[in-house]
Amino acid sequence: MFDGFPEMDLLVHKENFQNRLATWYHTAQRPLPWRTNPSLYRTVVSELMAQQTQIKTMLPYFERWMERFPNFQALADATEADVLKYWEGLGYYSRARNLHKLAKAYLAADQKPSTREAWQALPGIGPYTSAAIASISFKKPIAVVDGNVVRILARLTHDTRRFKSNGEAVKTFTGLANKIINHENPGNHNQAMMELGATVCLKHRPHCTLCPVRQFCRSCTQSEIETIPRIERKATEKLEIARAWILHKERILLQRIPSYAGQLAGQYELPKLADLDINSSDKKPFTIKSRSITHRRIKEPIYMITPSEKLLILVKSQATLFWISLKKLDRVTLSGPHRRWINELLDKTNAET
Ligand code: SF4
Repeated sequence: MFDGFPEMDLLVHKENFQNRLATWYHTAQRPLPWRTNPSLYRTVVSELMAQQTQIKTMLPYFERWMERFPNFQALADATEADVLKYWEGLGYYSRARNLHKLAKAYLAADQKPSTREAWQALPGIGPYTSAAIASISFKKPIAVVDGNVVRILARLTHDTRRFKSNGEAVKTFTGLANKIINHENPGNHNQAMMELGATVCLKHRPHCTLCPVRQFCRSCTQSEIETIPRIERKATEKLEIARAWILHKERILLQRIPSYAGQLAGQYELPKLADLDINSSDKKPFTIKSRSITHRRIKEPIYMITPSEKLLILVKSQATLFWISLKKLDRVTLSGPHRRWINELLDKTNAET
């Protein structure tokens, strides 16, 4: 059980801890484009892109984004459709919309934001991202605390308490993270903690023998190391969404996600069978797709449908249903993995006809 003393241990050796971490980061950090060629704009874009997305997934998107929108002005001048197009495939599209709004707000501000509070007042910037920007771009000694940092601190102090959520664990460790932050270079310190969590202090099988702060760690010799931190997981929810694959006169039927659907609003996807008034009970799916979104497991059987007269009339009467020409498919923004599925389905359909 946590007794508070390991935290004190860490505080007593704070400088040694900071130096070891800094030396390690200097040589071990991955050469990421926002680190090798840093700027405020690149930090802001990388931080928003990295929310909910793994670094290796976001890297090609980041490079493409920088070519198309190299600075706040280029982003502010773009249309929302263009911005969403360059975000397509990354998911959580509210981040792209917020980044677009943020560029406009930043340019319009008479006094440019330089504090955490001022950044947090901008669209899409929460406590985590504002701490990252303030520390990396403005050298403010504010700790960035996410799951990676929680994991490192919980293991360093061998904190075996149970937390009800990630949020509760982040709140608990924010105090300690701020106490041990390096005031001379808080940006690098924060990035080093992130890097340590991403490459060494892994959730499963941490590389303790390679860890630069092993000498301060109370967990590395314990067998239950992978169970720390102890955070309750949400129960898995299973969903099934039947979808239709309808090709008609060189066009595909797509459904636009309505405005009340939050961050996916305005994008297109394969239509839901239920919205086409089609019953699938007597049909065999053309293919079945599965994916996980946070704690939800979604199974999506896709049925190949030959459009009936009744369906053609229904499509005309529904404002969210659209026939999109195959030639213009690249111009619409598709949600999640739908573009990949559509390309696969086109190949499969061509192979079977
Ligand atoms: Fe994590 Fe192991 Fe380093 Fe401790 S020694 S901080 S458990 S990688």
